[in-house]
Amino acid sequence: MNQPISILGAGLIGSLLGVYLKNRGLDVTIFEKRKDWRVSSPHSHGRSINMALSYRGWKALEKAGLKDAVAPYTIPMYGRRIHDEHGTTYCQPYGKEKEAIYSISRNTLNGILLDAAEKSGVKLAFEHKVENVDVHQNKITFSLPDQEQKIQESAIIFGADGAFSSLRNAMQRQSRFNFKQEYISHGYKELTIPPTSDGEFAMDPNALHIWPRGKFMLIALPNTDKSFTCTLFLPFEDYKVCFDKIRDKEDVKNIFKTYFNDAYHLMPNLDQEFLDNPTSALINTECYPWTVNHCLLIGDAAHAMVPFYGQGMNCGFEDCSILDNLIGKYGTFSWDLVFEKFQKGRKPDTDAICQLAMNNFVEMSENVADPRFLVRKKIEAKLHELFPQEWVPLYSMITFSDIKYSEAYAIGKIQDQVMEKVMKEPFITQNWENLDYHEILNKVETAKAV
Ligand SMILES: Cc1cc2nc3c(=O)[nH]c(=O)nc-3n(C[C@H](O)[C@H](O)[C@H](O)COP(=O)(O)OP(=O)(O)OC[C@H]3O[C@@H](n4cnc5c(N)ncnc54)[C@H](O)[C@@H]3O)c2cc1C
Repeated sequence: MNQPISILGAGLIGSLLGVYLKNRGLDVTIFEKRKDWRVSSPHSHGRSINMALSYRGWKALEKAGLKDAVAPYTIPMYGRRIHDEHGTTYCQPYGKEKEAIYSISRNTLNGILLDAAEKSGVKLAFEHKVENVDVHQNKITFSLPDQEQKIQESAIIFGADGAFSSLRNAMQRQSRFNFKQEYISHGYKELTIPPTSDGEFAMDPNALHIWPRGKFMLIALPNTDKSFTCTLFLPFEDYKVCFDKIRDKEDVKNIFKTYFNDAYHLMPNLDQEFLDNPTSALINTECYPWTVNHCLLIGDAAHAMVPFYGQGMNCGFEDCSILDNLIGKYGTFSWDLVFEKFQKGRKPDTDAICQLAMNNFVEMSENVADPRFLVRKKIEAKLHELFPQEWVPLYSMITFSDIKYSEAYAIGKIQDQVMEKVMKEPFITQNWENLDYHEILNKVETAKAV
């Protein structure tokens, strides 16, 4: 007997979850409020964000049998290319040689996952906006395009409907449901660097470009059509450079010429794009429990984080893979147990990555331009080279491994304390290569043992 399973949301996480559940032989329907954009506007890039896919995401895709379908649409980025205010650039490798994060268009990836879900037999119901979920009777109320309403029962309901989840809203009406959200002071706007007139990339395509300017920054990721999608992160207000103070094309031009002059010359449509494209807010949400009765939150619905570690989607993909392992272990007739194990095991990890994502804004927008930070990165890279198992930099633990986020967070804190002391040594910028690297490692090992 096959129990009907509903996934709310056909975004990145809902689509991949659909594939995983179908591979387990379950009867799955995904409900999505949007039209099927693969049909209605196949060439539209929708939200033109491109995503950085890293180890955890790849691993979850591979387990679902989708790695090869995704790989041709990605571009490896081996490091950050920093652009200073004079237009000079230099590269900071992300990890060891060949370690990269991969740029991919959100819409392309979502399309591949949805096609795979559909092909495997998942039913897709577009233009089904969830208005309410009765979490005790397992009933979902949808509104359909012509003001019709539909109520549907489902044995199991997954909320993969993003940061403003309708399932989470319903859960919030339960007693003892904890929820917190925080909008950060910054917002973002997407812009484009098109290909050059001879159809080539205007900058190095194998890097994530950053223009770090302290409290604000511009970043750019390559696209397979040889353009770059840029994201400008600025405070909304109360700073010399903020969205509130940019009112017309002249302001846009001044800001870009002053702070991002080399990028400015690569952006022929900048002023129009700036005025046309929306300014979006950035939110962090955390909640608990993730499960009530036979309903479970997953992906951004359970833990939406700010984008500065490039982990929101990777973390959501890892959620799907971990959930699948638990289904494999406990079977599909023990959903309560599966959901309980999932939320207990996973929550400390998503708390850790939400916090790290918040902290990483300072690293991206400020530290990467600081010469002492660069020396510190070199020392850490050397430690990793000398002791590949014992010293793995925090960024590598998060991005190039699947060590639990909470463990990486704890080890990262210890490394941080040790490195702060190392960086206080006199003439460190000149003498960093002659440090006693065994001694540094010993300090970390001792602190770990305490
Ligand atoms: C600027 C920016 C850059 C980012 N960069 C990266 C990156 O480089 N790497 C990375 O790993 N992560 C990144 N992220 C995070 C990533 O976008 C999210 O973690 C990821 O999209 C979460 O997927 P999701 O499926 O849980 O939610 P969503 O992608 O939000 O999908 C939710 C789906 O549910 C549907 N839905 C919503 N409400 C309803 C309803 N009531 N009824 C029916 N359907 C509904 C929506 O239409 C949507 O299709 C970035 C985020 C931002 C904002």
